[in-house]
Amino acid sequence: MSTIFSQIVEGEIPARIVYEDETTVAFLDANPLAPGHTLVIPRDEYERLNDVPDDVAAALYDTVHRMVPAVEESVDADATTVAFNNGEAAGQEVPHVHCHIVPRFEGDGGGPIHAITG
Ligand code: AMP
Repeated sequence: MSTIFSQIVEGEIPARIVYEDETTVAFLDANPLAPGHTLVIPRDEYERLNDVPDDVAAALYDTVHRMVPAVEESVDADATTVAFNNGEAAGQEVPHVHCHIVPRFEGDGGGPIHAITG
């Protein structure tokens, strides 16, 4: 069975896609920790970062690198927390590698870990 994120890639369920290329897709998180909270995923399904081949890892990083300033600018954020929950024990709920880009604001009160665990 494909993950909910594969269903987004396939257009089977709706998402606010903000960027896509041959290898990666970025879309808004459905339960944002802050306005503009964005997820970046590989199109292909890999459960954990450990499973991602080098070329896909490079493309993923490239998209994250491209999206960070775009996300900050879109919501006028002061900073971003950029993180993977890599594995169930780390809080990963969707078994399809995804990078969280969470906009941060001066005085928002969330520490770095809190920001990605909700
Ligand atoms: P994690 O706990 O690191 O696996 O994060 C999974 C993230 O996926 C959470 O922040 C959810 O809000 C988000 N999420 C789950 N389903 C969807 C969906 N259909 N569209 C967008 N984001 C989703």
